[in-house]
Amino acid sequence: MKTLPDSQNTPLPILDAVAPAVTAAPVQRAVLELSFQELQDWLRERGYPTFRTQQIRRWLIQRRITSFEQMSDLPAALRQQLHEQFRFCSFQTVGHQVASDRTEKLLLRLQDGELVECVLMRDPGRRTVCISTQVGCAMGCVFCASGLRGVKRNLTPAEIFEQVLVLHRLMADDEKITNVVVMGIGEPLANYRSLMAALELLTAEDGFGLGARRITVSTVGLPEKIREFARSGQQYNLAVSLHAPNDALRTEIVPVNRNIGIQEILDAAEEYHQHTGRRISWEYVLLSGINDQPRHAEELATLLRGRTAHVNLIPMNGVSELVMTAPREPQTQQFLEILVRRGIPATVRKRKGADIDAACGQLRLNREDSKST
Ligand code: SAH
Repeated sequence: MKTLPDSQNTPLPILDAVAPAVTAAPVQRAVLELSFQELQDWLRERGYPTFRTQQIRRWLIQRRITSFEQMSDLPAALRQQLHEQFRFCSFQTVGHQVASDRTEKLLLRLQDGELVECVLMRDPGRRTVCISTQVGCAMGCVFCASGLRGVKRNLTPAEIFEQVLVLHRLMADDEKITNVVVMGIGEPLANYRSLMAALELLTAEDGFGLGARRITVSTVGLPEKIREFARSGQQYNLAVSLHAPNDALRTEIVPVNRNIGIQEILDAAEEYHQHTGRRISWEYVLLSGINDQPRHAEELATLLRGRTAHVNLIPMNGVSELVMTAPREPQTQQFLEILVRRGIPATVRKRKGADIDAACGQLRLNREDSKST
């Protein structure tokens, strides 16, 4: 089997955008870019007791504040030193859209000027945030806005984790985040180490404290990384973007499939299920006239028969640069019924934030275009 390179270990194609200009002011780190130990050392060097480390991290991670000044039980001098030495957050919010269903989408500008997105979705009793893991994406799925211009770089653990925090700070005091889906811009398993470090901050008791079963990682299907993820010993949910029931069609829709193949993915997903006991979700974006015919549904049912699987049908969200569209409602229902009749648990994903640029990566593309025109 051919494997894709882990982009964490391999130089990414476009790194010049990340390198700071020689004349630039010194880059300040965000506090959460420091490990617990580094922050503790920094405090100790300035004569502060070690308990301040946990105190500062608790403020940053668990409370809904937006400046060091608000860390009210820290000495004023320490608040001032933090303010002078560090950024409060690793990015700035430069765009904020609110849809009529109260879905909120943020556009974030990272320290090097790159843009990513994150989303908050509201359902009764449920608050789900969707976060990004890379600037752009190298996978090139033909219907996806995120990959239209390739990948620029991986996000750091803080840049991934702080998306959850920035959305948490937006919410009312009586609201809390119940679920996190790693389904924003990028391929999470191609940025494996940063992903895992971010998930650790998200789940740690002294971090954000979210249960692993409330977190879903969506992948294009990188078998080696799925197997590594299986061995992580955590009960994260795994969603695999399948989009086609055979290799010929999948390679047209998901070009990286050429080097992988559906069988490898099925085997790796089975290992994930064996290790974690979690049911695998199979995502299937419905593209009108391409992968939405009854014969595709029949073939998909045969492919997944006997597996502990759930199929998530996603009518394509429109992307202005692309001509592909979602099928009409009756086609979608017919596809769903075929799966269900053949014993495959399946649902159609409800559309959220329909009146904002909710398709993955769309907001970032629009902003980049308006910058360049
Ligand atoms: N790279 C990962 C995670 C990011 S994409 C993956 O491939 O799973 C998250 C999900 O959104 C994937 O299932 C992806 O196929 C889907 N998606 C991307 N663009 C979309 C669009 N225009 N309409 C509907 N779903 C889309």
